[in-house]
Amino acid sequence: MTYQDKPGAFRPAYLDGKLKKLFIDGQWVEARSGKTFQSHNPATGEVLADVAEGDAADIDRAVEAARRAFEGPWSKWKPAERQLLLLRLADLIEENIEELATLDTLDMGAPISRTRGNKQRAVGMLRYYAAHAVTIHGETIENSLPGDIFSYTLKEPVGVVGAIIPWNGPLTATLWKIGPALATGCTVVLKPAEEAPLTPLRIAELCEQAGVPPGVVNVVPGYGETAGAALSGHMGVDKVAFTGSHVTGQKIVQASANNLKRVSLELGGKSPDIVFADADLDAAVPGAAMAVFANSGQICSAGTRLFVERKIYDEFTARVAEFSRSLKVGDGIDPEVQVGPLVSTEQLDRVTGYLKVGQEEGAKALAGGARLTDGALSKGFFVPPTVFANVKDDMRIAREEIFGPVISAIPFDDIDEVIKRGNNTDFGLGSGLWTRDVSKAHKIAKSLRAGSVWVNCYQAMDPAVPFGGYKMSGYGRESGLQHVEEYLNVKAVWIKTA
Ligand code: NAD
Repeated sequence: MTYQDKPGAFRPAYLDGKLKKLFIDGQWVEARSGKTFQSHNPATGEVLADVAEGDAADIDRAVEAARRAFEGPWSKWKPAERQLLLLRLADLIEENIEELATLDTLDMGAPISRTRGNKQRAVGMLRYYAAHAVTIHGETIENSLPGDIFSYTLKEPVGVVGAIIPWNGPLTATLWKIGPALATGCTVVLKPAEEAPLTPLRIAELCEQAGVPPGVVNVVPGYGETAGAALSGHMGVDKVAFTGSHVTGQKIVQASANNLKRVSLELGGKSPDIVFADADLDAAVPGAAMAVFANSGQICSAGTRLFVERKIYDEFTARVAEFSRSLKVGDGIDPEVQVGPLVSTEQLDRVTGYLKVGQEEGAKALAGGARLTDGALSKGFFVPPTVFANVKDDMRIAREEIFGPVISAIPFDDIDEVIKRGNNTDFGLGSGLWTRDVSKAHKIAKSLRAGSVWVNCYQAMDPAVPFGGYKMSGYGRESGLQHVEEYLNVKAVWIKTA
């Protein structure tokens, strides 16, 4: 698919004015209630599509279809067949990446340079899971029981997976749930975020084209309190794979208790990023800034608590502020834009609320600090990259997840102190440090209680490397071998041979 690289010039063929229906049991259907909602472009306010609004009744239908598929012909598919299916889907994602990247940009605002840049990760992820489809195996285990009794394990798909995803990266979030399910032989009911349902629905079309059997992948857009709650509480669901806020994560855990379904949670964070005076500051300035400003700060592992060694604090924060002001903010469809809009009015209110709180708490905005409303920006939800200095550990802007382009810069004096303060948070998702001293790097990497530690880089991700949280950032891992295991049950088999 081709399009002109001009702001507003391209409209994917998918946005054809037709109602975007639910995908259940291989069919495109309206919601039982007949209800619909609209998906908007957060850069312009334009309506992109009407979308069928699924609720509990549609979740029931989808879970039944997923159960039938799980117990039916899909269970007979050989690992090599599932592998081929994943490889076909990966090829289709690759062929259609321009359209999918554009849908992500239009639906949730991320710059097109970023959404296009997700290609390698999205396609690589499916090929990675494809490799795993043919390597799943149990073990023979020598036991110490008297007599002749032989034991081994079988790895079996966990069953029907309810996948609930946020809006901040619809393409990769969708594939992160579908990939391991197809690799292991599970079936999925995926509920996209109400703010950005279009890419997941388009991926459902590609699943159909790839030959995914009816009921194996179902996509039911709808609201969290209705469709999401119905899915997480459903007695027919064996596992919930959730990505979103910790508040919703807590509700999911409660709802999942009725049938004690398995749960994995990828939640939010307030990640520390630590800059030592001995770091390569030319790399650390843009690195630490983009650790927060990428995707307008709407990344769970953003390095929002920027700890800077006191002797370089003024110089470093001034340089980060200068870099921040140089970033181009605007409609993400413009290839030169580096910072797009926030996704919604709710997000705008949340982030501008924190900008006020920060100033009231005594922090000083070295860059940004207020919503942008000039010219074309007035129609969208734009907040400029903001750098707060004079931040203290106990301020709300240093403790709570803002999920916007806001850095809270905090001075520190020594390594033991910064480890303690870095760990002084309820969350534990990402973390970073910038130094030329390898012993400092190892010491901090071992001491921070976070699922990822990035040294002299930030936000590096790969399908083979596990990603996930400590503490209130959740449990379970996505990517890597452990992710595949999360979709499997282990069965022990004992056979008396005498
Ligand atoms: P959210 O928790 O409000 O919504 C996430 C999803 O949950 C949406 O699909 C929503 O409809 C659904 N939902 C809402 N209420 C529900 C309920 N009661 N029951 C079931 N489902 C419900 O989060 P958000 O605002 O969409 O996303 C931002 C949050 O997600 C941030 O906290 C961010 O850090 C986190 N996040 C984490 C990761 C990760 O991998 N750790 C990745 C992206 C985003």
